[in-house]
Amino acid sequence: MPVSLDSVRERDRQDPLADFKSHFALPEGVLYLDGNSLGAQPKAAKQAVGETLDQWRDQLIKGWNQGWFDAPERLGNLLAPVIGAQRGEVSVTDNITLNIFKLLGYILGQGKEGRQAVLSEGGNFPTDGYIAQGYCRVSGAEHRFLPEGGNLAEHLDGVAVVVLSQVNYRTGKLRDMATTTKLVHDHGAEIIWDLAHSAGALPIDLNGCGARYAVGCTYKYLNGGPGAPAFLYVHSDHQDKGWQPLSGWHGHASPFAFEADYTPAGDISRFRTGTHSALAYAALEASLDLWSEVDMQALRAKSLAMSDLFRECLSDIFTTHHIDDITPSASERGSQVSLVDSQNGYAIVQALIARGVIGDYREPGLMRFGFTPLCLSFEDVWQAAQHFREVMENGEYQDPQFHVRGAVT
Ligand SMILES: *Cc1c(COP(=O)(O)O)cnc(C)c1O
Repeated sequence: MPVSLDSVRERDRQDPLADFKSHFALPEGVLYLDGNSLGAQPKAAKQAVGETLDQWRDQLIKGWNQGWFDAPERLGNLLAPVIGAQRGEVSVTDNITLNIFKLLGYILGQGKEGRQAVLSEGGNFPTDGYIAQGYCRVSGAEHRFLPEGGNLAEHLDGVAVVVLSQVNYRTGKLRDMATTTKLVHDHGAEIIWDLAHSAGALPIDLNGCGARYAVGCTYKYLNGGPGAPAFLYVHSDHQDKGWQPLSGWHGHASPFAFEADYTPAGDISRFRTGTHSALAYAALEASLDLWSEVDMQALRAKSLAMSDLFRECLSDIFTTHHIDDITPSASERGSQVSLVDSQNGYAIVQALIARGVIGDYREPGLMRFGFTPLCLSFEDVWQAAQHFREVMENGEYQDPQFHVRGAVT
């Protein structure tokens, strides 16, 4: 290996975030580089969920007045500093897909003259485009795609709202939030930022960038657990502009008045829909308690250092095996390494998983390795690279068992 084990151990000794790893329950013998798909489990989650089960058993319906009902806003306030938002600007609710639908309807409902189109991004995680198309079918708005790599400024005519990811899920490429937000606003349109691959991966300054609307999930970098509720951000100046279209009782101004007609709540709770899972919120809250102690600048520095270390350890292997390293340069990188081998990518990932090194694979040919600075040490990264080297040098990926496709990849 081009980098010595001693040198990475020294880095671990100097790492200001090193202690966080002890707060996560990671299985023995696993090197987990897939925290960008499903984050690891905080040790505190088990107790938190257990306590909520006890509360359900002992308090029954009284639990709703003991923290369950307020969870979307309480957790939103815990999350707000992690993404550069203020108290009262974030709701933890539903999933990204539904939250995009709500924001599309909320923004288009404000009706700007001559602007009907929704622009979503070619090459983005598909649900963002699918739900924009679904919204347009029911509302009659026009849906368009920004071609992958296209110049945004040239596609904003007649556009009311743009849906963009801050970090692309495939390539890991990071957009400049401040300049893109300004560009869209200067064209008279609105932008919904999707933070699925940036929240918990790098520092975000929604307020500082002038962002008005954003969504993101908590089960990836934020360790909320499988199916953990997503979040929705609306700047405080823009929370009183009409209905969101999924107008359910929890978003009503007085949900327990049981009035016949809908009146939206005056604050961020307007973006709720219906009853949420107290158990899911308990696990996520345990994680957000940890996240509220994280220095996001230190997190960013460690994330970039880890992804660079992995690539440095393997650059000769990439050359000899014709693996294309498409990881963006540091200033344009999320928190992942992206490698392309259209012939063997799938099998290489499977061979690594068999060795306990968990990354993931996305068509066509893309191997993704996510670097979660709270759960990984530099030595883990070095060890994962060592396994990768052995899989390639021994030709392990050629074994036919690694070429069989499972349902979830
Ligand atoms: C993971 C991800 C989603 C997931 O959407 P859900 O509705 O929460 O399942 C959406 N958008 C992007 C960009 C993602 O990476």
